[in-house]
Amino acid sequence: MPRVYNFSAGPAVLPAEVLERAASEMLDWHGSGMSVMEMSHRGREFTSIAEKAESDLREILGVPDEYRVLFLQGGATSQFAMVPMNLLRGKGGADYVNTGYWSKKAMAEAGRFCRVNVAATSEGSNFTTIPPREEWSLDPDAAYVHYTPNETIGGVEFHWIPDVGDVPLVADMSSTILSRPLDVSRFGIIYAGAQKNIGPAGLTIVIIREDLVGEPLPGTPTIFSYGTHVKAGSMYNTPPTYSWYIAGLVFEWIKGKGGLTALAEINRRKAEKLYSFIDGSGFYHNPVDPGCRSWMNIPFTLARVELEETFLREAKEAGLVQLKGHRSVGGMRASIYNAMPEEGVDALVEFMKEFERRHG
Ligand SMILES: *Cc1c(COP(=O)(O)O)cnc(C)c1O
Repeated sequence: MPRVYNFSAGPAVLPAEVLERAASEMLDWHGSGMSVMEMSHRGREFTSIAEKAESDLREILGVPDEYRVLFLQGGATSQFAMVPMNLLRGKGGADYVNTGYWSKKAMAEAGRFCRVNVAATSEGSNFTTIPPREEWSLDPDAAYVHYTPNETIGGVEFHWIPDVGDVPLVADMSSTILSRPLDVSRFGIIYAGAQKNIGPAGLTIVIIREDLVGEPLPGTPTIFSYGTHVKAGSMYNTPPTYSWYIAGLVFEWIKGKGGLTALAEINRRKAEKLYSFIDGSGFYHNPVDPGCRSWMNIPFTLARVELEETFLREAKEAGLVQLKGHRSVGGMRASIYNAMPEEGVDALVEFMKEFERRHG
């Protein structure tokens, strides 16, 4: 069975080179006589894997020294709660920018802990735009400002980092981290579930500025305090060791590709190919404002809705899978993360062209 082109939004495609390397190390990691899955997380072997992964990630992203990098469990969803639990620090409210499905999830969870000020929302456009910074109404006394740089379901992406003054900026970067260079120093906290651009599900990365660690709400469970994980080097309890190891292989792969500047160039080209084909066709449609279209997740609809099932079936026969849109919005969605080769996008465009010719 040859590899398919997998357009899943997550868990998503991983680089074939990474999977091959993991396969070759499966039974005996570097002469240890065991799989990484079978190692003690506190042993010398795994410690070296963990440290290498962190230092490679720091190098790729240019993480400044005053930031800690955590390798946790619980998914981005757990961060929807951990952020307010750890960052309120005596304040009663936080600012949230609502650009779609994942913003709303984060807001709903924060509402359990504090007053959520909706600083801006694009709900009026059915989340096909991003409210310009001049229109945000930020609360100068907010504990932090939270936003979602890439809405995985709506396919809306910020191509800029908002200036929010001295209030810590918090970003759910699950589906855009590592897609391009990033100025980490602009953020208080960056978090991301791994299963889009980093590695396997089960690992959650948190990058947190040191001064924000250490004053959780009274009653916060030990495991949900950032301080706990900072102090323990992400080894307070058993971390997701295998996912951490695979993430490390992905970081090495990124370095081999020439880092984030090189990847950004490829990602931009891949996205432009698909958008320009969709825009030039009378059969396919993407509703998102061209100024804030995602490089990673590209939703589209067919002019004839009744052909959706046929489209998905024929795409699958052509080796192009997981193109069905999210259950909340329908239609199609092509997720084209770092590990989706440019040839995969070319193959998708060819297929779409041919499908339109036959059915359009
Ligand atoms: C996938 C995703 C999530 C949810 O991540 P889990 O790891 O399943 O909790 C949250 N936010 C964004 C932007 C996502 O893409």
